[in-house]
Amino acid sequence: MDCPDCGNNRTRVVDTEPSADGTSIRRRRECQRCTFRFTTYERPEWESLQVKKRDGTIEPFDRTKLRGGIERAVEKRPVDDEAVTAIVDDVQEACRDREERIVASTLIGDLVAEALRERDKVAYIRFVSVYEAFSDPEEFLRELDAVLEAETDPPDETNT
Ligand SMILES: [Zn+2]
Repeated sequence: MDCPDCGNNRTRVVDTEPSADGTSIRRRRECQRCTFRFTTYERPEWESLQVKKRDGTIEPFDRTKLRGGIERAVEKRPVDDEAVTAIVDDVQEACRDREERIVASTLIGDLVAEALRERDKVAYIRFVSVYEAFSDPEEFLRELDAVLEAETDPPDETNT
């Protein structure tokens, strides 16, 4: 949900209520960058986002399950609860902004992987090794090499 004023895609919901006719949900949103406030009317179906898994089965989007997967990946890593919540929020928001109400589990996996890659390389590798079925092991090793190279070159300042 992009801010109509500055185009920023991070908005905060400040108020939610059903519309007068009950067919949609009225949300008051505030841009996290410029604090511009605007109202959106969302179809309630968007609340019941569906996820299509690799085997073709469709199940409701499960925030807790998504969070659990991320938490396993960031265990003992410097990624706190707040950051995990932010990733879950971002992924959910990105899925909701799509036209389709059914999103592929692989898309969700990609979004999470992308977010983790920016925050913590080890968590990223853990996540993709479990959740992204690489078509062949070579591909995974190449990805791992690329990440490790990025870690060591240039040297990490925190290691000095
Ligand atoms: Zn804005």
